[in-house]
Amino acid sequence: MTADTAAGTRTATLVARAERLFPGGVNSPVRAFRSVGRMPLALERGEGSYVWDADGRRYIDYIGAWGPAILGHAHPAVVAAVTSAARNGFALGATHPLEVKLGEAIRRAMPSIERLRFTSSGTEAVMSALRVARAATGRDLVVKFAGGYHGHVDGLLVEAGSGVAMQAIPGSAGVPGAVAAETLVLPYNDPTAVTLAFAEHPGRIAAAIVEPVAANVGVIPPAAGFLEHLRETTRAEGALLIFDEVITGFRLGPGGAQARFGIRPDLTTLGKIIGGGMPIGAYGGRAELMDLVAPSGPVYQAGTLSGHPLSMAAGIATLAALESGRYLELEDAAETLAAGLVAAADTAGRKVAVARVGSLLTVFFRPSPPLDAADALTSDRAAFARFFGALLDRGILLPPSQFEAWFVSLAHGPEEIDATLEAAGRAFRE
Ligand code: PMP
Repeated sequence: MTADTAAGTRTATLVARAERLFPGGVNSPVRAFRSVGRMPLALERGEGSYVWDADGRRYIDYIGAWGPAILGHAHPAVVAAVTSAARNGFALGATHPLEVKLGEAIRRAMPSIERLRFTSSGTEAVMSALRVARAATGRDLVVKFAGGYHGHVDGLLVEAGSGVAMQAIPGSAGVPGAVAAETLVLPYNDPTAVTLAFAEHPGRIAAAIVEPVAANVGVIPPAAGFLEHLRETTRAEGALLIFDEVITGFRLGPGGAQARFGIRPDLTTLGKIIGGGMPIGAYGGRAELMDLVAPSGPVYQAGTLSGHPLSMAAGIATLAALESGRYLELEDAAETLAAGLVAAADTAGRKVAVARVGSLLTVFFRPSPPLDAADALTSDRAAFARFFGALLDRGILLPPSQFEAWFVSLAHGPEEIDATLEAAGRAFRE
């Protein structure tokens, strides 16, 4: 029995109504389940590592709200913080004590961020960081890496990951050619390509933006020396280095990927975990760069709901709960899961590669872990879709794409990991 045939009437009805309302039935493309050929879920409740659909079926969840749910869903401390903040009203339209508190917590954890600004999404954070970089350098071109997803910023949708890769399209319609032409797309993990791009466009590149661990074409760790080369080259060429840590920030540790790899970017973008599941984004970096932002400086950027007190409250509670060694616990859980998946695939004689960095992992349906997006895109998507379906039918919810990371949370205990491995073992054997 598949979830499609089993789909209860409520899910089926909701999905049908959503399809008449929203393009593709969803408010964000990755939710549509198209690349795995299944009917999308309507999820109604989450608690810990579990989510429940509209028909009350329970799943062990590895979507993790696409990143924010590092404590699991509806963590009591986060619920309490948001509830308490809500009693004081929502957006009040002026600086709020909770903004100061979360801002200071982020700055303490990430020393490269001397000043920051909150936005309502990661997309806005990236868009604004690029604006600052262009203003600071007086240059227009931006380097990105194929398979990198930085939100739906016009110029960065070229060869993007996440939903763009899932749809197997090279970019997006509706982006002016002139805008796309300001982006140079290079292969990830290829230092020579970086050197050549700067040599070909001397004095014209404002910034290189990179997911320090690629996580939107499936997980691809940076090759030894790649991030260092990017740091040195951008510095030598008078361009800025922007780390997009919307996924990796507070996921790979309190200092994000920059602490893990010991690289200090000029600007950093954040989102997801810092809002504890509420809408958020942030960008920050060296004080003299951030002081270019209005009203200190000439780069205009604003937001009615920026620094929303409920997002701030959820973020503060989330970061507080992550303190004191909890990342080691998370790393252990993810390693147990990854090692178990490798063993289960071996036992079943399946050629898959499990890539893991911290609590981000991907099972690639190809014999070896990819080094860049071109490699990742050769994975066997049909095999992934079958695997996804087999796990879904056993109550395990993976991100519905070969090209997304599984998000392990602190709520994934031995029981959930065992259940996942048991189901994966059967799925591989089938
Ligand atoms: N950057 C990265 C690395 C992301 O993974 C995402 C979203 N998945 C974004 C930016 C955009 O964030 P948002 O969806 O909040 O706009």
